Amino acid sequence: MEVEALREKIRAAGVIGAGGAGFPTHMKLAPNINTVLVNASECEPLLYTDYTILKEHIGLVVSGAEEVAKALGAGQVLLCMKKHTASRLHISDGQGFGDFTQVKQLPDVYPMGDEVIMIYQALGRVVPPGQLPAKVGVVVINAETAYNIAHAVQDIPVTEKWVTIAGDIPAPKVVTVPVNSNVRDVLQAAGVAVPPSHVVLDGGPAMGNIIDPGTAKITKKTKSLLILPDDIPAVTFKTVRTERVLVRTPSACCQCFSCTEMCPRHLLGYPLQPHKTLRYMGMTEEAGLGDFSTASLCSGCGVCTLMACCQGIAPSISMTEMKKKVGKARLGYRSETPTVPSPERENRMIPIERFMSRIGVLRFNRVPVWAGALPVAQRSYDLLLSQHVGKPSVPLVQAGDLVTAGQMVAKADDGISASLHTPVSGRVTAVTEKAITVEKG
Ligand code: SF4
Ligand code: SF4
Repeated sequence: MEVEALREKIRAAGVIGAGGAGFPTHMKLAPNINTVLVNASECEPLLYTDYTILKEHIGLVVSGAEEVAKALGAGQVLLCMKKHTASRLHISDGQGFGDFTQVKQLPDVYPMGDEVIMIYQALGRVVPPGQLPAKVGVVVINAETAYNIAHAVQDIPVTEKWVTIAGDIPAPKVVTVPVNSNVRDVLQAAGVAVPPSHVVLDGGPAMGNIIDPGTAKITKKTKSLLILPDDIPAVTFKTVRTERVLVRTPSACCQCFSCTEMCPRHLLGYPLQPHKTLRYMGMTEEAGLGDFSTASLCSGCGVCTLMACCQGIAPSISMTEMKKKVGKARLGYRSETPTVPSPERENRMIPIERFMSRIGVLRFNRVPVWAGALPVAQRSYDLLLSQHVGKPSVPLVQAGDLVTAGQMVAKADDGISASLHTPVSGRVTAVTEKAITVEKG
């Protein structure tokens, strides 16, 4: 298929980065790409969504990735997965699939789903700091996104989401649910009760967010719902008040340099030095924000907080704050030249088991069963117009309209945006700036 035709199919199907990024996928089809990387690396612990999609539908994942490669004239597709995933699937390194896809096994370390790290690990290419993967001829597509592309080619839009439900529950499972299902209805349908002194995370234990299961929804980006005790390190650092961290950091940081030495992006040669950023945190006025531009290179992986810092001062929180400030002032760091990874990198990579043990989730790591489509008993769906990067979708319906499951109810706006489809048939009861409400019927 020609690239323009494929772009339109993907756009019309409302495909966005399903791995958590939410970037509209049709915008990723750039020129000068020679390699498509399928990210099935399942970056965070306890998540088995990519594994399950591969187990059930590896043919569709490969087909979606190869559609992109063929349209872009890219001669190489690498299906990237960690060794533990490959071993469970009985797939060997270099094994071929489809017309020209090969498996690339990645080490069982955290973080491996960060695309600049995965590109280096899989291809030995370093994306210059602040640049997109296209700069080194690569496009990275999550496994579920590739699966959605294969459907888009058949004019099947994104109306369901693959989700791992796991953590401190008796029977972890992977399910599909309608996009924009209520989290409380999903948990109820899955037979999961949230015990006292536990929280629900949307996303992984390191980078996921605590959500209110009473109001939260499954978006096109949701990869997991994790039910975790509120006193383990993976959760406690998410409950620390940012203002408190910012006040405490200048006096508590002993400048041991550990956060920088263990930072996965610093080890890739990126000029990111959290200890230095933190040293001058309180002096942005004097130093000028430009001196902190490297904070824009922080991926938010949390290694500095969860593995490195001996003072318990959560450097990643300060880095995120600085990244926001730098972003607002449009002072992000950018370089044209690839960096040189540290010779220490191999020795400092963090084995996933050690990471899980340190953040308190190792005991919850069980491979979930694939439970199929969950029968969610939900009558009313609020379809969110903004669940992707960029401008909100533009409604195409109004209150009173009858809609059919799979129908486009909002189109992609100009520029970066994505279209939206109803997962259920019924009647539109409200259209607001934020959502289209459909009563199932
Ligand atoms: S969160 Fe910390 S370790 Fe991770 S990229 Fe940012 S500074 Fe580096
Ligand atoms: S690891 Fe903690 S104490 Fe050490 S330099 Fe980094 S923030 Fe400061």
